[in-house]
Amino acid sequence: MQTQVLVVGSANADLVVATQRRPAGGETVLGGDTRTLPGGKGANTAVAAARLGADVALLGAVGDDGHGRLLLDSLRGAGVRTGLVRVVDRPTGVAYITVTPDGENAILVSPGANQEVEPSAVDAALPGAGVLVASMEIPLPTVEHAVTAAAEAGVRTVLNLSPVAKVAGATLAALDVLLVNEHEAAWLLGAESADPAGLLELGPRSAVVTRGPRGAVVVTAEGLTEVPSPEVEAVDTTGAGDAFAGALATGIARGAALADAVRTAVRVAAISVTRHGAQPSYPAASELE
Ligand code: ADP
Repeated sequence: MQTQVLVVGSANADLVVATQRRPAGGETVLGGDTRTLPGGKGANTAVAAARLGADVALLGAVGDDGHGRLLLDSLRGAGVRTGLVRVVDRPTGVAYITVTPDGENAILVSPGANQEVEPSAVDAALPGAGVLVASMEIPLPTVEHAVTAAAEAGVRTVLNLSPVAKVAGATLAALDVLLVNEHEAAWLLGAESADPAGLLELGPRSAVVTRGPRGAVVVTAEGLTEVPSPEVEAVDTTGAGDAFAGALATGIARGAALADAVRTAVRVAAISVTRHGAQPSYPAASELE
């Protein structure tokens, strides 16, 4: 069976600690117990797609350490193929996350092994892939090469441009779908315009902007399509955007029209926010029926 969805992106251990308040410089504050959870945008996206039944491979890197083993176990447990996850001589990426009682997260990412995801690894992975979905948190040259090489090989391309950064015009022009949240869209559009249609001027054939509880909007040359979210009680929005990306890529790989793939992605992300954690919150295909 061919790889329907090839994810190129990060794998991080999320170290989460609750605290009454964040320490200032030079200060020490005692928080709650540390929870260690599998995360990272690439790993999350891959797990979300696999839960929906897609044939998925992650191209990434972890260290030869406990965090790396946690991530590989979680990926394999969800059915993600891990043959393209290199074990390298650097610590696995870690996201240090403090959560205050108001629910706000502050996150410090140590990319570690993710810095070793090299452009040259992409080419061998492309033959047979249906859709490539890349995200940031890995070296920019790797993201740029993955997108342009995939497009040249006839593989459909999705870039979740998160965390948002400046990428080459040739990369944006090679995209079938540019996927961003509202904040990232505003950053890309600049202060003058909040019109998502402006994203197409950057080069992609289509764009999808996620809008938290309001769902998403699809932008194509034919115009805008709003896709509202079902109303749900959100308990934890961690990794919602990654769930969306995995579901979107799965729909595209299965030949769905973009707006239909986005409708499913909105439902998948809505379910994910009703449960705690990122990867453990992602629904199986059977839950969408
Ligand atoms: P990100 O998580 O990347 O910042 P968003 O906040 O836009 O991006 O969330 C991504 C998607 O997750 C949204 O398009 C929506 O489908 C879903 N989502 C996020 N927050 C909620 C919420 N409170 N209620 C329902 N769906 C949500």
